[in-house]
Amino acid sequence: MKKSSRKKQRKNTSCNKGEIKGLIILGLLVFLAAIIVYAPLLNNEVNDEYINYSSHEGEILPNRFVCMLRGDIKSRPTLPIEVNSKTYWACCQNCLGKLQRNENDVLFALDPLSGESVNKADAIIRRDPQDNKRVFFFKSNETYNQYLETINKK
Ligand SMILES: [Zn+2]
Repeated sequence: MKKSSRKKQRKNTSCNKGEIKGLIILGLLVFLAAIIVYAPLLNNEVNDEYINYSSHEGEILPNRFVCMLRGDIKSRPTLPIEVNSKTYWACCQNCLGKLQRNENDVLFALDPLSGESVNKADAIIRRDPQDNKRVFFFKSNETYNQYLETINKK
């Protein structure tokens, strides 16, 4: 009688262990599910401040995500500087300084279609369709659209 009750007890404890294991696994699954559900929401919040390169195809890029010195797209907002009452954006003090001094005419860029000189502050800034992290400075939407056509023909 005593022996059998001990056996029963042992069986009970092993059964509890199994249940606890099950609960832990269930807890982990719920935790994982929560991560899977909430991770995209967190990413969306981040994307407001950190640009997602692939989402800006064909869109005018916000100037504050461009370092206008070399036409790089930045993942964080850049810094504004006013030169000749126009606002330019750059990634660092070094770039800002070069813009301020207009070293080598860096305030201007060539429209990739017409070759015309464009003031970067007035340009239609669009992502380079062939380089995710670079922009072109277009004189107008027309030159941008024509540029896309030429590229697509190639
Ligand atoms: Zn820069």
